[in-house]
Amino acid sequence: MSQYTMLSALTPQSETASLLVRVGRVWQAINRNNNAVLHTNVVLIDEQENHIMGIVRNNQKEMFKSILSENGVFHISNIKLVPGPKLYRTVDRDLAINFFYKTKIEKKPDTGLIPQYKFELQPFQNVNSLVGDVRSLIDVLGMVSSYGQLEKRSNGAKKIDAVLNNAGNEKVVVTLWEERADEFLAAVADTNKSPLFVVITGLLAKKFSARASLSSTDATRSYFNIDYTPLKNLKHEISNASGTPVDTLPPPTIRHFVTGDEEDIQEISIKSILEAQIPHGKDLLRFFCKAKIIGILDGNGWYYICCSKCARAVKQLEGKYYCAHCVEESSSYTQRYRVVIHVEDASGTTSFTLFNKEAEQLIGIPMQKILTEIEENDNVTQIPAAIRNIVGKVCTFQIKVNKYNITHACEEYAVTRVLESSPLPNSDPHTDSVAALNKKQRTS
Ligand SMILES: [Zn+2]
Repeated sequence: MSQYTMLSALTPQSETASLLVRVGRVWQAINRNNNAVLHTNVVLIDEQENHIMGIVRNNQKEMFKSILSENGVFHISNIKLVPGPKLYRTVDRDLAINFFYKTKIEKKPDTGLIPQYKFELQPFQNVNSLVGDVRSLIDVLGMVSSYGQLEKRSNGAKKIDAVLNNAGNEKVVVTLWEERADEFLAAVADTNKSPLFVVITGLLAKKFSARASLSSTDATRSYFNIDYTPLKNLKHEISNASGTPVDTLPPPTIRHFVTGDEEDIQEISIKSILEAQIPHGKDLLRFFCKAKIIGILDGNGWYYICCSKCARAVKQLEGKYYCAHCVEESSSYTQRYRVVIHVEDASGTTSFTLFNKEAEQLIGIPMQKILTEIEENDNVTQIPAAIRNIVGKVCTFQIKVNKYNITHACEEYAVTRVLESSPLPNSDPHTDSVAALNKKQRTS
């Protein structure tokens, strides 16, 4: 019988418990409104592979500094048992540990008795039903099959989308923000073209378009190619299912943009876009096109006024705005970017329309900010300098060609995603990565 109390035996009255635990993850809970640290969380694991959340208050950080570094084994006594967090749980348990001034912590040798990791893994097929559920954060395990480029939001936030595969070849998209995105890229660079297996913890399920995906939080941590039994099992399951030996499983591939369905979108020239025909039974086609922005067309201005409810353009009648879709006088309306750009590649020129999100991404300034700045000059029809600044950028655009484009000979193809890339070929082989990497992977 162990001299220590097992985590499974803890109750709200277990003040005299004496624990031997490994410190798993450590992270800071941040108040997103002012970026203040609320407290520090630690996950404690015992020899029976159970875990519990521990909370270190800011004023006790100095006192408990030793346990705030991951992976050590400690004897901990004199603790308070408190109700676990109700929402955003890392550990699905109603009980958590609070450290207080009497708590004793003593470092112990690591005999390997206590496991290194403990996760609450969710199968991919549960992700859809977990959208909007904020009770527990989600841990997943998978092989990284592909990932997109590092993208920057106009507020400066960095993100990367990665696609994980399971043994059944199901996929889930995980969006990693900020440091988590950097860590991911470092891990990809480290693997040097070998397969990449990962456990990603502390995620939330979200739905952006039709498909649910996972998004990182403060509690997120990624564990790449770790020595963890379910990860090893997955490796063998994928190997068996695909008939590929473990050593020759494919490394992650880099894509222009990551979508959950991994739709096979072709990269084509402007000339081919102009000549595209929509096959019978389809409403539209999607393509990638790498082109340089050579001008802004100012015939239609650079924004439109839309219904705050549905974002469709509103009509103005006697000084009031009406939304045809919401069939009523629009109680509130707002402005959104609609910037028509003139683009060029080696095959020709055409025009693309950038809507709000993609326009803001390239311009780097929220629309409302530009609007308030120019209001004093009272010339809102002229294209502002901040928007003209995007001329000269070379980007990979994901565009759609619809029937209207063809029947009305209206170019202005709508851009659905955009990624700034480097100048066109031959100028800088290091940053001209998209096409080069894709080509490399196709030929290797
Ligand atoms: Zn509306």
